[in-house]
Amino acid sequence: MAVARQFHGPIDLHAHSSVSDGTETPAELVRAAAAAGLGTIALTDHDSTAGWPEASAAAEVEHMTLIPGMEFSTRVQYASVHLLAYLFDPADSALLAELTRVRAARFTRAEQMVARIGADYDLSWDDVLAQTTPEATVGRPHIADALVARGHALNRSAAFAGILHWKAGYYQPHYAPDPLRAIQLVRAAGGVPVIAHPATRGIGDIVAESRLKTLVEAGLFGLELGHRENKPEPTARLCELAAKFGLVVTGSSDYHGTGKPNRLGENTTAPEVLERIIAEGRGSAPIYG
Ligand code: AMP
Ligand code: FE
Ligand code: FE
Ligand code: ZN
Repeated sequence: MAVARQFHGPIDLHAHSSVSDGTETPAELVRAAAAAGLGTIALTDHDSTAGWPEASAAAEVEHMTLIPGMEFSTRVQYASVHLLAYLFDPADSALLAELTRVRAARFTRAEQMVARIGADYDLSWDDVLAQTTPEATVGRPHIADALVARGHALNRSAAFAGILHWKAGYYQPHYAPDPLRAIQLVRAAGGVPVIAHPATRGIGDIVAESRLKTLVEAGLFGLELGHRENKPEPTARLCELAAKFGLVVTGSSDYHGTGKPNRLGENTTAPEVLERIIAEGRGSAPIYG
């Protein structure tokens, strides 16, 4: 009888690298996870899998388990909903086409936001490009870094609380598919979809019972209830709904390097839950380093 490959603990299933808005390269992130005492890390850059090969190689060297993943941008009207996806086929053509569309929309949206900010502050598009790599998924964090470099904000958090806040008037949304379509795309690519930080302010009635039921029927597998931005009351309500719908519950850090206060391993996921996620994933395999 074949023996199942074993992953290491503790387990953190949500972290970003410089392929999106994290401040460390994929290899640096894996090394930071090892140094933090973790045994398993999922690389979940926004709308991109470009960091998988580098993170996989680093996981082998560090004897870490790597779960290949992504945080898929989705949207319902004005509410941004993040969908974690694990173990999907990164070459699936329908998924790739949608990710290309989202990244292009993010790029145009960032250019437009910077043009508007540049009318009031000394800030150019080149300042933002200096904070990203050519293949990175561009987001407001890169605009924040450019604002910091120009002395208009003290750090990312201050930039988000000020110039980048929607109330400041420079905010602009970007195209993203609705969560139902994103779940369908992830499942069709063999992946396992989990809603990221579903109990944050602003996510609204997207996770109301009737809507959640539709997402579960489309293949939603879990909810990330262990996350510092989740609020207690909706978390308790979603915990009950997770039990009712048979969803797994994950916990993770959402580490962004120095870009956010979140620390690796500040929330973790139970080994039984990771076992279920691995058993469910068919598009790619964990790296058992
Ligand atoms: P965007 O998707 O371009 O609108 O930017 C949203 C991203 O900004 C999220 O993925 C977070 O990682 C990051 N972010 C949101 N709020 C903050 C904050 N207060 N400090 C640092 N990063 C933040
Ligand atoms: Fe982010
Ligand atoms: Fe997120
Ligand atoms: Zn994230």
